[in-house]
Amino acid sequence: MKFNEIPYKRPELESIFSELNVLIKKFQEASSAQEQIDLMKSIKEVRNEMESFKTIASIRHSINTNDKFYDSENKFFDENSPAYTSVINTYYQAVVKSKFQSELANEFGEHFFNVSKVTVESFDEKNIELLKEENKLSSEYNVIIAQLEIIIDDKKYTIGNISPILSSPDRSLRKRAAKALYKALELKQTELDKLYDGLVKIRHQMAINMGYENYVDLAYKKLNRTDYDSKDVAEYRKAIKEYVVPVVKKLKIRQQKRLGLDSMKYYDSGFKFKSGNPKPKGKSSEIISQGEKMYAEMSPETNEFFQFMLKHELMDLEAKEGKMAGGYATIIGKYKYPFIFSNFNGTSHDVDVLTHEAGHTFQFFRSLSQPLPEYYYPTLEAAEIHSMSMEFFAYPWMDKFFKEDVKKYKFSHLSGSISFLPYGAAIDEFQHFVYENPNISISDRNAGWLKIEEEYGLTSDKEDNSYLLSGRFWQKQGHLYRVPFYYIDYTLAQVCAFQFWEKSEEDFKSAWSDYLHLCNLGGSLPFTKLLEEAKLKSPFVKDNMKGVIQKIDEFLEKIDDSEM
Ligand code: ZN
Repeated sequence: MKFNEIPYKRPELESIFSELNVLIKKFQEASSAQEQIDLMKSIKEVRNEMESFKTIASIRHSINTNDKFYDSENKFFDENSPAYTSVINTYYQAVVKSKFQSELANEFGEHFFNVSKVTVESFDEKNIELLKEENKLSSEYNVIIAQLEIIIDDKKYTIGNISPILSSPDRSLRKRAAKALYKALELKQTELDKLYDGLVKIRHQMAINMGYENYVDLAYKKLNRTDYDSKDVAEYRKAIKEYVVPVVKKLKIRQQKRLGLDSMKYYDSGFKFKSGNPKPKGKSSEIISQGEKMYAEMSPETNEFFQFMLKHELMDLEAKEGKMAGGYATIIGKYKYPFIFSNFNGTSHDVDVLTHEAGHTFQFFRSLSQPLPEYYYPTLEAAEIHSMSMEFFAYPWMDKFFKEDVKKYKFSHLSGSISFLPYGAAIDEFQHFVYENPNISISDRNAGWLKIEEEYGLTSDKEDNSYLLSGRFWQKQGHLYRVPFYYIDYTLAQVCAFQFWEKSEEDFKSAWSDYLHLCNLGGSLPFTKLLEEAKLKSPFVKDNMKGVIQKIDEFLEKIDDSEM
């Protein structure tokens, strides 16, 4: 069945809830481990059914936010997910109390219990109304951003298709585009301020209701982080300041020199090369068929995967009006289908979709045979290793996409990847600041951003741009609204992906086999254990960071970019 042919109907919550409650009760009363194992399988089936409908509605809504039907279905799930989560939570409570834990751990591994435990500790019935409100506000954010009207020279753009113009070689066009973007955001800034303030207050209140000091620890648990805490992350951010920020500063100076600019303005950062940024050659259909060839040659496993995606039409790649911004990869568990969503825009981003999002979906494809739905996805920082490393494993095929621009692409991709780390760490530090100080005013919050931005060397000349000067740049970063504290994950994963890059340059086959092993493991282990299995060094160790970053720095130093 193709994605479009999958029938959708709104699940009947009452019968699903009662079915689950019966199964959970049987689980609690079970007199043998085998009985519990069988019940876990039945619970998985019911969950797959419910969660698949939710995902289908969400995908179809994100493809066309103007579609009234799926808009209301999406709202239905926003409204009812907390009650569903509550039922599932009683299941995890029963798991944590199971008499047969050691037998179950023999069958499924220890990690399932870690996940069950943090799930129990991050949910409370008392918070259901607040959770509903939180869902509502973050959906409102999505709609504001998707419907943002960016007017450049009388033409209308959306956040999904503006980025090629933001990196145009024509400096004055680039400037008009950046101005238009921030103007559009400025028109919504009061709403965006209010939404965020509302979300911070709601999240803080939920933490207080559950006896936490603030939202930070609760958020870590919600993200299933079972093997590190906010202190480890703070140390890691320090290593970024120490080892990465100086490297990125050098890269910025090289960029400015290359472009022959007297100073870097806020509208220059996206423009990397005088001759234009590297662009994939050919129409989107050609890019997709190059992707098909690449995966056919890369390995038998990637070939099987990509053919499956094509056959079942599990990719919606091109930008359209009303389509939600950004890209994601997800799973429709009932059908064992992964799905890729993106907004192609004619830049190298399109190739990144076929590598990054495809890296995620490849892992899903490999782990959908894991026995528990909890193991389909690893935690988010581990999940990004699959996607970001795939970007590097794809390097030998990049000439197919970029032809004569391939050197420029690799320089741009690698320098872009390392330049991202300070930004990612800044977004994370900002969130710690926000949730550790939940009651400060909106303007103090924005002033906090300006300070952090400076510390991570992210600033360029803002000229008279009042939106940027007010410290609201972060509002564009949807994660802050939608999934708080989900951001440092990208940087942790990037440091791991860099290691796969180094290894694949030395010995592709052996690096690939470690990577495949990591994909097969899915979410069956926590982050740091997955790293051990994949023979990767932990980013939480300062010396590891130093070593990884040094290699990238040396490599980039050797490339002559002056003529690019
Ligand atoms: Zn990703």
